[in-house]
Amino acid sequence: MSHQKSLKKPIPPDVRCGGSSSPRREAAKAPTPGRSPCPCCGCKTFPMPAADALAYICPVCMWENDLFTTSDDEPSDENHGMTLNQGRANYRALGVCNPRLAQYARKPLPEELS
Ligand SMILES: [Zn+2]
Repeated sequence: MSHQKSLKKPIPPDVRCGGSSSPRREAAKAPTPGRSPCPCCGCKTFPMPAADALAYICPVCMWENDLFTTSDDEPSDENHGMTLNQGRANYRALGVCNPRLAQYARKPLPEELS
């Protein structure tokens, strides 16, 4: 008897999740200035002394702090074999130690340049 094969599905009205007060996540979070100078670009981007900043990546030049190299001319595993001096030269020329990472780098804050 009940031979109703209705394929017609009512389109639900715009369902709203009741959380009208959910805070939207900020897309661009404000960069926080660091306190200690980066060994590569010299900007104060490190939140702690570079000697304590294990594998910290400088947001300005993208140099990854390498505590295991003993000289500025020693290839850094953290930085794909780049030496600190190469990174510095790249930063001076390109504004970033590794051109491949340029998209992730940001400009130094005024406080970081002092
Ligand atoms: Zn840097």
